[in-house]
Amino acid sequence: MNFLKRIENQTLIAIFLAVLIGISFPSIILKFSVIGKVFLKLLKMVVTPLIFTSVFTSLLNLKSFKTLERVGIRTVIYYLSTTSLSVLLGLFIVNIIKPSAEIKIHEIPKLKTISLEDLVLGLFPENIVKSFASNEVIPIIFFAIVLGLAALKIGKKAQPLNSFFEALNESLLILTRGIIQLTPVGVFFLVGSLVAKEGFALLLSLWKYAGTVILGLAIHGLIILPFILYLFTQTNPWQYFLCIREAPLLAFSTASSSATLPVTIEVAEEKAKIRSEIAGFVLPLGSTINMDGTALYEAVAAMFIAYSYGLKLTFFQQFLIFITAVLASVGAAGIPSAGLVTLTLVFQSVGLPLEGLGLILAVDRFLDMLRTSINVWGDLVGAKIIDHWLNKERAHSIV
Ligand code: ASP
Repeated sequence: MNFLKRIENQTLIAIFLAVLIGISFPSIILKFSVIGKVFLKLLKMVVTPLIFTSVFTSLLNLKSFKTLERVGIRTVIYYLSTTSLSVLLGLFIVNIIKPSAEIKIHEIPKLKTISLEDLVLGLFPENIVKSFASNEVIPIIFFAIVLGLAALKIGKKAQPLNSFFEALNESLLILTRGIIQLTPVGVFFLVGSLVAKEGFALLLSLWKYAGTVILGLAIHGLIILPFILYLFTQTNPWQYFLCIREAPLLAFSTASSSATLPVTIEVAEEKAKIRSEIAGFVLPLGSTINMDGTALYEAVAAMFIAYSYGLKLTFFQQFLIFITAVLASVGAAGIPSAGLVTLTLVFQSVGLPLEGLGLILAVDRFLDMLRTSINVWGDLVGAKIIDHWLNKERAHSIV
């Protein structure tokens, strides 16, 4: 897979160049922004069918209910634990730094709010065709899991279904490889137009808040996740990161875990040699429910708004922020700004004014890029650990 290595390096160079050119010649790069959009569309084109085929075929390949239960339960427990850790870290840092800003909101954001009921209802499909049409990832995963379970029940008779979806899955991965070739160009125009449009001035105006989020993300991504990876698998985290770096880089450029998913699966299977039935199940699930970066950001953002309004939150209120930030990150879709929408749930839990969101909007896209990279890195660390656990168990049961 030499081509992946070439593309990773080119992608990195593309990001640097995009920042330089986006600042120096914004109007030129904006003229060509359509190229970045086309690249994004191509990625999205494969995501929805890929989520379905990879979850369904992985499930059938895991074969027994017992293995499935083991993988499923561990995946969910692992994901919730690391997400909780990252929220705790966010709360710890924000309580030390106590960032705040002057409230001068000119524009009250018109954001969709989300309730706990919406969050629960959003897990289930009402019409699977509609879910496919509107890229509702969690309902599609739900459907793939229950259909897979049903297919496991009918045993041999499910073989045609399995072969069909396996062939589709492999073809989609080949298609993904083709799209990956375009990454450096796509990323150049995506990042370039963003820098051209937004500039860096806004980031500076909210540096204390942005800095707190960035510090939290950095500690989680560079210290905590690598430590967990090493603890459970004795893998060298740096080497593992280098091996899969294309995925977090693309996550940074697209601010979307879902759009990155085809590449995440590709690097996990081809470069990190994670078994496809594990990667195909753990990663699609992770791309939508495991968002360590988003959860940390939501906790810091809520506290920042509270400080800015001069509110003192009690221990219990911070506990509510902890719970809702974990839930809100699970409920957030893997698309740009999804975390900003589910942040309303965190605000409502402690009665923070929704207008406060106006304060953080300006820097949100940039923080979104960073938190999405951490989200995807967290998914890949999770996949490696779950794969390792299962390999170990397998080895024991053979002996
Ligand atoms: N953009 C993030 C993701 O796709 C979600 C968010 O925090 O807005 O993972």
